[in-house]
Amino acid sequence: MSSTPGTDTSSLLSRLRRTREAAATAGVDALFVTPGSDLRYLLGVGGSSFERLTCLVLPAEGSAAEPTLVVPALERPGYAHVPTDDLGVAVATWVDGENPFRLAFDTLGGTRPARVAVTDMMPALHVLGLRAEAPDTAQVLAGPVLRELRMRKDDAELAALRKAGEAIDRVHAAMGEWLRAGRTEAQVAADIAAAIVAEGHETADFVIVGSGPNGASPHHDVSDRVIERGDVVVVDIGGPVPEGYNSDSTRTYVLGEPRESDVPATYAVLQRAQQAAVDAVRPGVTASTVDETARRIIADAGFGEFFIHRTGHGIGLDVHEEPYILAGNELPLEPGMAFSVEPGIYLPGRWGARIEDIVVVTDDGVASLNNRPHDLVAL
Ligand code: ZN
Ligand code: ZN
Ligand code: ZN
Repeated sequence: MSSTPGTDTSSLLSRLRRTREAAATAGVDALFVTPGSDLRYLLGVGGSSFERLTCLVLPAEGSAAEPTLVVPALERPGYAHVPTDDLGVAVATWVDGENPFRLAFDTLGGTRPARVAVTDMMPALHVLGLRAEAPDTAQVLAGPVLRELRMRKDDAELAALRKAGEAIDRVHAAMGEWLRAGRTEAQVAADIAAAIVAEGHETADFVIVGSGPNGASPHHDVSDRVIERGDVVVVDIGGPVPEGYNSDSTRTYVLGEPRESDVPATYAVLQRAQQAAVDAVRPGVTASTVDETARRIIADAGFGEFFIHRTGHGIGLDVHEEPYILAGNELPLEPGMAFSVEPGIYLPGRWGARIEDIVVVTDDGVASLNNRPHDLVAL
């Protein structure tokens, strides 16, 4: 866990300071951050939320209160490597029978604050526990505050994303070893999952093998369908490297010659759309423009109604995070933003295709972290 990039003490100090400033700007009195990607970003410590409250209480800039990590005494050892003293973070432990929500609010001083922000993925039992303790305190999401920092990756974060991209590319490069006619999607997926780990991921977070008609369902998982010659197969795979940053890449394969005669021409439209969307990425271009670029090419070819999801999502400590690449998001792209470009065409009951790369906005354009060929790969 201590290998999370950018989590040397000076980087963490900077993240904590900028988060407190962003909280003040957003008009919230404090952030309540439970274990998960936000806490990993702020303190460099992994872990999950359980029924016992662990929570970093981060007062907004200008508050007299000290940042405080509220943690059950029995889980305190798991946070031993967090340099709390150097970070200016107090630690408040509690034991079963005490009210951790009261303890969390008390770290902010006597009166209950007007408005606090809670981690987007905070378990409901903690959200409601905090509410019961301070019924007049408004609760808002911390996501809009933290995304201002997390969207813009620093060099250490980009290095981890690049490592993840190279690892998943190696898995796609070897797909012919596992993806063969006569095997089930589940059998193929089990081999892919093992390869994802063997190539340097901590876990295989997701393995989508959508063969034939299953490829027309974008979030199809895997099934016991036996893959046949002539099938088009969508393979969307990824997971975190030990640093915590994720890979996510899709390629579409065909077993021999495609059975349906419309595959090559339709796939060519998708390939053109994906490339045009990647080429559109540079600082100042809006997220919606990238989406619109892919969508227009697919719609102009007559497949608009078969492209049924956004063009992409940000990626980092979470597989899906800001910035989302979709209509209506007028966020101008900035250097350091990392996201997927993954248009698809899904023909219900027949077949589907998707091409997905993770790209990073550079000072004057774009760099792709996935570099396998975009062609329909015949195996
Ligand atoms: Zn998805
Ligand atoms: Zn994906
Ligand atoms: Zn994706």
